[in-house]
Amino acid sequence: MTQDTTPVLISGGGPVGLVLAMELAGRGVRSILVNTEPTTAVHPQGNTHNARTMEHYRRLGIADRVRAVGLPQDLTTDVIYLTRFTGHEFARIPMPSSTEKKRRIAARDMSFLTPEPIHRSSQFYVETELFAHAETLPEIGLRFGWELIAFDLQDDGVLSTIRNAETGETETIASRWLAGCDGAQGYTRRALEIPYRGEGGDEVAFFIGRMLSVYIDAPGIYDVMKVDRVWQYWTVNGDGRMCIVTLDAKGKFVVLTRYPESGEPDEADIIRDIRNAMGAEIDIEIISVREWTAGNALVADRYGDDRVMLAGDAVHLFTPTGGFGMNTGIEDAVNLGWKFAAVHHGFAPEAVLSTYETERRPIGIRNTQSSRKLASDVATIEVPEALEQDTEEGVRARAELGRHLSGFTEEFASLGIQLGARYDASPLIVADGTNPPPDSAVDYVPSACPGGRAPHVWLDDGASIHDRFGKWFTLLKFGMADTNTASFGAAASAQNVPLDIIDISEQAARDLYQCGFALIRPDHHVAWRGDALPADAAALIRQVSGNNL
Ligand SMILES: Cc1cc2nc3c(=O)[nH]c(=O)nc-3n(C[C@H](O)[C@H](O)[C@H](O)COP(=O)(O)OP(=O)(O)OC[C@H]3O[C@@H](n4cnc5c(N)ncnc54)[C@H](O)[C@@H]3O)c2cc1C
Repeated sequence: MTQDTTPVLISGGGPVGLVLAMELAGRGVRSILVNTEPTTAVHPQGNTHNARTMEHYRRLGIADRVRAVGLPQDLTTDVIYLTRFTGHEFARIPMPSSTEKKRRIAARDMSFLTPEPIHRSSQFYVETELFAHAETLPEIGLRFGWELIAFDLQDDGVLSTIRNAETGETETIASRWLAGCDGAQGYTRRALEIPYRGEGGDEVAFFIGRMLSVYIDAPGIYDVMKVDRVWQYWTVNGDGRMCIVTLDAKGKFVVLTRYPESGEPDEADIIRDIRNAMGAEIDIEIISVREWTAGNALVADRYGDDRVMLAGDAVHLFTPTGGFGMNTGIEDAVNLGWKFAAVHHGFAPEAVLSTYETERRPIGIRNTQSSRKLASDVATIEVPEALEQDTEEGVRARAELGRHLSGFTEEFASLGIQLGARYDASPLIVADGTNPPPDSAVDYVPSACPGGRAPHVWLDDGASIHDRFGKWFTLLKFGMADTNTASFGAAASAQNVPLDIIDISEQAARDLYQCGFALIRPDHHVAWRGDALPADAAALIRQVSGNNL
């Protein structure tokens, strides 16, 4: 049996494991990533890559290639509610195409409050890009087709056994840490015996309970449908409800529908139900079918033990409403990644890893609960009998339900969830006595109050302020070019904490940050801000890097 060694062994090559590997690689830390399946996902799942995820992809240098896959650039990402594809449209939530977003970004439009607005593309296309990029990074050893089957905690690390899914061959890997990014059914959390807690997907209505996700090829839909080509369609009629999401605008769709009450799903029944939603006998090829549970709001009791950390679906299970699951997991990976790297490079103590749970678990609870609330809002609508009728009563029924459903825009516009995560209670954050903006799932109020994401502003040369941040800690000087920051830099150097010091001269940036100086963390959260440099820079650096834990 061969043995390999690596600072970090990652179990699970979904989006969260792949992003963790990239985050570590970008910080000069090697990892080996094992994934049971030989390839990235082949069944479409999520579609929403939120603004925060896209900001991280920008930092990792892959935002443009992620935006290029999936839907055509000029397809509007509208959501349409309709009785059937051959029936009546009765509500629409308009949303821009990629081309329109790019036009507004090129014009340095501030209305998105981010340089990287939300992006719609099926997760499986994006995972292919993540994998392709990870393959080019020499720090990452990709071992797809290999499964983690056991691990043992040692005094100075973890000894894991992996098995080749095809040949059965086993190997051991000695690592300093093990990261369990192996999803809901993954081995790592179960081996640690850490339970999920919260609300499960009880069978109450549509989009809560047992569901099917059906990947189909049915280009004939475009020949019969009476509405235009958009991103997402919800059919509502007396036979039931369905969510049909466009994958490529050529004929591939993913259909989310209830698990049949009659028991085992049968292909013929599924095709009949989809044709019903179409209102036409079109050809439908079923490529794959997966069962999933809607309505979950479950968070693991702990985010790891000792040298084994967990991230993504391994620690939180969402209902898909709002598209928060993978996105929350990606921010877990970013948080964990810089901390692993800081300890590996020797400028933070092992104890800093405990702040991963302190910072991320409350966000897991906040986001799962918001998602569940959004799901229950849409789960319980009454479908009026006249909805499909070509009568005055039918027109009235559609107008009424349309008004009701058009109000559910929060599902598609949750900027508070996307950008508003805060780490106020973290020992790595230095409070400045100001109040953070109120927490909201919908609204995000830009603020440099320590603990939150560093707000974005366009600078005079067309860059986002985020593009100026260094790889590790960054001290921003707002119109303070004349202030000597050598002693601050020396305090960081004395503790081997990597620091960039950047002058920002634009008044708009100073007005937004409301300070003379701000210290930004590697994950682009504000660690500290002040009008003057701190009296004891060494103590500040110790705190934000976890060296006083
Ligand atoms: C219908 C639906 C729609 C969704 N829509 C969205 C959305 O729009 N936006 C969003 O953010 N989220 C969405 N989600 C959630 C999202 O798909 C998940 O949160 C995301 O895939 C989690 O990523 P992960 O990397 O943590 O886990 P996974 O994607 O589950 O990946 C885990 C990987 O670990 C591997 N693995 C398991 N055990 C082992 C082992 N022992 N050894 C090695 N490898 C192992 C698995 O093979 C798998 O490849 C949706 C989910 C569903 C069901």
